[in-house]
Amino acid sequence: MNVAELDIRSALKTHFGFDSFKEKQEEIIQNVLQRENTFVIMPTGGGKSLCYQLPALMLPGVAIVISPLIALMKNQVDAIRGYNRNDDVAHFLNSTLTKGEMKQVKEDIISGKTKLLYVAPETLNKTENIEFFRNVDVSFVAVDEAHCISEWGHDFRPEYRNIRAMVNAIGEEVPVIALTATATPKVRSDIKKNLNVEDANEFITSFNRTNLYYEVRPKKDKNETIKQIVQLVKSTGGESGIIYVQARKTTEEIAKILNVNGINAAPYHAGMDSKSRSKVQDDFLMEDVDVIVATIAFGMGIDKPDVRFVIHYDIPKSIENYYQETGRAGRDGLLSNCYAFFSHKDIHRLEKFLRDKPASERQMGAQLLEEMVAYSETATCRRKYLLHYFGETYDKPNCGDLCDNCKDPKEKKEAKDDIVLAIKAVDLLNEQFTTKVMVDFICGRSGKEIRDFKLNAKPLYGQGKEKGEMYWFSVIRQALMLGLLHKEVESYGLLKITDAGKAFVEKPHSVMLAVDRDYTAESSAVVPTKTAALDDTLLRMLKDLRLQVAKQNNVKPWVVFFDPSLEDMATQYPITLDELTKVSGVSQGKAQRYGRQFIELIKDYVEENDIDRPEDFVVKQVANKSRLKVNIIQGIDKKLPLHEIAADNKMDMQKLIDELSMIVSSGTKLDINYYLEEHVDEYSLEDIMEYFEEAESESVDDAFEELKEDDITREEIELVRIKFLSEVVH
Ligand code: ADP
Ligand code: MG
Ligand code: ZN
Repeated sequence: MNVAELDIRSALKTHFGFDSFKEKQEEIIQNVLQRENTFVIMPTGGGKSLCYQLPALMLPGVAIVISPLIALMKNQVDAIRGYNRNDDVAHFLNSTLTKGEMKQVKEDIISGKTKLLYVAPETLNKTENIEFFRNVDVSFVAVDEAHCISEWGHDFRPEYRNIRAMVNAIGEEVPVIALTATATPKVRSDIKKNLNVEDANEFITSFNRTNLYYEVRPKKDKNETIKQIVQLVKSTGGESGIIYVQARKTTEEIAKILNVNGINAAPYHAGMDSKSRSKVQDDFLMEDVDVIVATIAFGMGIDKPDVRFVIHYDIPKSIENYYQETGRAGRDGLLSNCYAFFSHKDIHRLEKFLRDKPASERQMGAQLLEEMVAYSETATCRRKYLLHYFGETYDKPNCGDLCDNCKDPKEKKEAKDDIVLAIKAVDLLNEQFTTKVMVDFICGRSGKEIRDFKLNAKPLYGQGKEKGEMYWFSVIRQALMLGLLHKEVESYGLLKITDAGKAFVEKPHSVMLAVDRDYTAESSAVVPTKTAALDDTLLRMLKDLRLQVAKQNNVKPWVVFFDPSLEDMATQYPITLDELTKVSGVSQGKAQRYGRQFIELIKDYVEENDIDRPEDFVVKQVANKSRLKVNIIQGIDKKLPLHEIAADNKMDMQKLIDELSMIVSSGTKLDINYYLEEHVDEYSLEDIMEYFEEAESESVDDAFEELKEDDITREEIELVRIKFLSEVVH
């Protein structure tokens, strides 16, 4: 059958009301109508369903659609029925149906009314069903979410591996159309082999979602991250978004905090009953709720075109998951933002979940996770990275400013020689090791494999030691992206040298490399919190106590704790030393030195007044400068001149000094002596230090009033105050 263009267009209009096809839909549908095997790879939201729905409606017989989720099936059947006058045009067959319903479905199929039948693979597997289908006219079998076939995908379902056998039992000549949104090259070849459709015509549309912005941020402590999320959501001003989290409890927690901050948010997780869940979905679609805080259970089959942001509070367990979830943003083609928060701690948690799995699954899971880490840490264009992961070449050098790494590029270094070294090292060790081991080897570390295989006796061992682990991960990732090395998926990620890699060693060319981000070093910055509902009575009591403690220790009250710290305590009610350190301006040392009496007072107060302590910090207003802070702290550690740090971060000196004061006030020590030695007169420095040791307040204004006669500038006072707070107060 060869269907004229005109006919399939008018069928599109009649059945779905659309005027034109998206991307390759038309070619795909033609192929299915000609009863050829078909393989479709299209990103989420690309319009895959139509590729089998329309031909199913046009061809004689019934099309069997295999889909992994029972919950999704009902949705899809409803959607199809929504377009059609007759409800019996689409049915589903699964374990939730009663005997009577099952009978009705089969009758509708026999009478030819039903054009689309959704089944779960385990239902199709039943002998009586196979028997039944053998005797009806099946137009074709569609395998949706076909990546479930492959153990190398992120959503492996063993029942999916039986599909070929079932199709054969129904009728060997029945054509198959397989569809998936996420398939690495390995998964693709698995699908084709397993379904025995190696002859299938392949239709791949680009995975590039040109309207999505990608950013990965370091995840510090919980409060800090939630603060940033509140700020991100607020800045959109009431647009739709989804926040993905791992734990059910977190969905409720974050939704609550968003509500307090005036955002219409609702939690969504698998533990809720189905009625409340569908209410949340409806509210979201109707825009009674703007933000959904969900476990991964949410979003499948939800088609809201104007989702403006997707935030991952917890990093997903694979890039496939990440891409599918971020893919739910911006289906309408307008710019939408994808933020993910990443920490190694979360990765360790995900690794722990893998421990109970069988060995092969564990190794695969670990490899998918490793890829997720690499993506999170990369300093190169994220779009390029993602597309490379899915086997697509991105032909531009970078994506302009549609990812954090392109928008705010890292400094780049010539890495030609180091890439050569890495390739030579892989060669020397006979291509028998993974990235991790190669990095251990080049850096001269002592991992298990290094010891077991005595790799430390080989030449090149420790050759790249001084450049550090992070750097060598970057080098190897870059070599992979350039196709000089190849990671062999089947052998759990052993590095192999490609022909291009061999040629590169012979004749290297310039490669500029941006060094990946080190998210381990960034977890130390502390950011002060602004909070709600201050307890005035408690605050007064805390102030009295502070006065007492100050006298006992012979220090000024504000040396014990700053006012903002007391206010914070009178809001958060910390009752352990650990909780106390979470209070703004309270360092570990301070908590140890002065904290005990304060938490005892608070504990008594909480008990006497029967106070419901807030489970979490409530964020009212947030300054999101974490990245900046980290930059500044790192600059100071490197002893860079302050004006250089200011210039690097595009700020003036006053701004920088304000930032520095904030940082030390919130409990992080900064050593700026190297700078003071050069820029502040020795005598002035002594005067200022002396002043603060005696002063009744830490106010810069007061100090200036007092010291201006001595020709001391405000800037000097501010700088020395930073030293003072770092050395004396902490
Ligand atoms: P996928 O399964 O690839 O993630 P869907 O099949 O769910 O995507 O389709 C995504 C959205 O695109 C749906 O809302 C669908 O109605 C819409 N859509 C599909 N094809 C067209 C078309 N030709 N014109 C307009 N909208 C379409
Ligand atoms: Mg789909
Ligand atoms: Zn980019």
